[in-house]
Amino acid sequence: MISSINERITQIRASLPPSVRLIAVTKQMPTEVIRAAYAAGVRDFGENRIQEAASKQAQLHDLPDITWHFIGHLQANKAKKALEQFQWIHSVDNLKLAQRLDQLAQQLGVNPQVCLQVKILPDPNKSGWSVPELLPDLPALNQCKTLQIQGLMTIPPFGLNDAKIFHVFNSTSKLAKDIAEQNWDHIHMDQLSMGMSGDYQLAVQAGATMVRLGTILFGQRT
Ligand SMILES: *Cc1c(COP(=O)(O)O)cnc(C)c1O
Repeated sequence: MISSINERITQIRASLPPSVRLIAVTKQMPTEVIRAAYAAGVRDFGENRIQEAASKQAQLHDLPDITWHFIGHLQANKAKKALEQFQWIHSVDNLKLAQRLDQLAQQLGVNPQVCLQVKILPDPNKSGWSVPELLPDLPALNQCKTLQIQGLMTIPPFGLNDAKIFHVFNSTSKLAKDIAEQNWDHIHMDQLSMGMSGDYQLAVQAGATMVRLGTILFGQRT
C-alpha cells in the first residue's frame, strides 16, 4: 500500500503544473498514510476535523516541516484550536468567523493564511459567501489585519456536469481577479483553492493554485 501511495503521488504530481500546490487530504486516514505521503515528498496535508487532526499531529511531531491545512467547516468554538493546529484555513466562510479568527490570531501571535470560501451557485449543503454576500463584506474583511487573506476557495455543488463544474471554477477565478483589482490593503487574491479528486483537472484549467486531493491518492475512505 505504501509503495502504491508513492506511485500515485508521483504520477499526480507529474500531471500538475509545477506551480500548483498539492494538498494531500488525509481525513479518516491513519498516520501511516501521512508518513507514506511525506516520504513521497508531500509537505502539505489537509484535514477537516480539529479533534481528529490533533490526535494525528500528536503522533507526527517528528515531521516538523508539515504545513497543515484546515479544509472543513469551522465552528466558532473551535477557532482557537484551528489557529493553534493549522497554518492555513481554507474554509473561512462568514464575516463573524473571520473577525473572531483575526482577534484570536492577534492574541495568539500567529498570522494564519486563509482563503474565503465562496459559493458561485446556490448549495444548501455548503457554507460560504455567495458573490452578492461577499462584496459588501470586503471592507470589514480588509480590517482583519492579522489574517493573511490569500484568495478564494470553492467546492462545486455535487452532481454537476463538467461544463458546469468548469463554470464554477472559472467564475471563482474571475471573482478573485475582480477583487484583486479593487486593490485592498489586506486582501490578497493570489490563491485559488479548488479541485478535488473528481474535478481537479477542470480546476487547474481554470487557474487553481492549490488542489485538495484525497481519494485519488489514498483510495476510498471507509
Ligand atoms: C474530503 C475533501 C477533499 C478531498 O476529496 P477527494 O474527493 O477525496 O479528493 C477536498 N476538499 C474538501 C473540502 C474535502 O472535505
